[in-house]
Amino acid sequence: MIGQDDPAATRVAFIGLGHMGGPMCRHVIEGGFSVVAYDRDPEALVRAAGHGARAATDLVACVTGADILVTSLPGPAQVQDVLCGEAGAIAALAPGTLVVEMSTISPEGGRRAQGEAAEAGVQLIDAPVAGQTIGAEAGTLAIYAGGEPTAFHRALPVLKTMGDPDRIFHLGPAGSGYAVKLLLNLTWFVQSVAIGEALTIGVRAGVPLDRLHAALVNSPANSVFLERDVLPVLDQGDYDEGFAMKLVTKDLALAVDLARDVGVAAELAALVEGIHRRARERYGDEAGEMSAIRLYEDATGTELRWRS
Ligand code: NAD
Repeated sequence: MIGQDDPAATRVAFIGLGHMGGPMCRHVIEGGFSVVAYDRDPEALVRAAGHGARAATDLVACVTGADILVTSLPGPAQVQDVLCGEAGAIAALAPGTLVVEMSTISPEGGRRAQGEAAEAGVQLIDAPVAGQTIGAEAGTLAIYAGGEPTAFHRALPVLKTMGDPDRIFHLGPAGSGYAVKLLLNLTWFVQSVAIGEALTIGVRAGVPLDRLHAALVNSPANSVFLERDVLPVLDQGDYDEGFAMKLVTKDLALAVDLARDVGVAAELAALVEGIHRRARERYGDEAGEMSAIRLYEDATGTELRWRS
């Protein structure tokens, strides 16, 4: 019996305690749930134990007896490793358990786990997140869920500990959450390239950056990216290392895969993915998420800063 009204009676297993999963797990603990945690990185596990989780020695020990399993893993390969096959978590879960898979992967990447869960009588929803590490720390993530409505409602009390209740969306059948998350990122990174390109052209054409920026913000070309998100670059050359280029290029490649899977010739997505891959090669795996803008700055010797 899942203790919806008494979180302490609900046993939550949490696997993947990285930049996002670490603070997300802490919020589940602070929400009063009884949490057993596992990560292959011992230091991440020690941190979770410091927040009040019971540290499991391995994956099977973590999930055995759980009512709900939450996962936050880097990509499709790790999600399959953790969830699927004879040594995976689904095989060790009792029928009726709920899996809440919160990594950013594609609907196709989640298909095998979905099939194995259905065979085992385990419910599974995809519930990737947006809001960066700041949102994970604050417990104010946006959450994009796909799967059976009953499973989503069952997951809600746990999701509400990690996310902003007004931005926890149930979007449709299995895979819908993954699709929306990839499209959200794709749209944002298209803008990163478009605005980096436009600002560089404008400054090269002799328009002072502050006037160029103000004019665009007060025009039909305005966007949240232009008005808010790009400001750290223009203020101080901060390209935001909170989200690394290795994850950016993973997400953009998955968005291109998704477009192919559903038969859309997404030429712009492929181009934008290529530009970000080039930025990752040039500035490194850990470079900040807006590093594509740097490509334009470096190619033209134009520093996009208020003072320059
Ligand atoms: P991360 O690399 O910091 O954390 C992943 C964790 O999973 C690590 O602690 C790693 O040791 C663990 N792990 C990997 N394979 C494992 C296995 N087989 N068994 C047990 N543990 C394993 O990544 P992150 O930044 O926390 O991101 C997690 C997910 O959230 C990714 O899919 C990412 O795309 C997505 N995301 C990240 C951000 C962000 O700003 N960092 C924002 C939104 C979404």
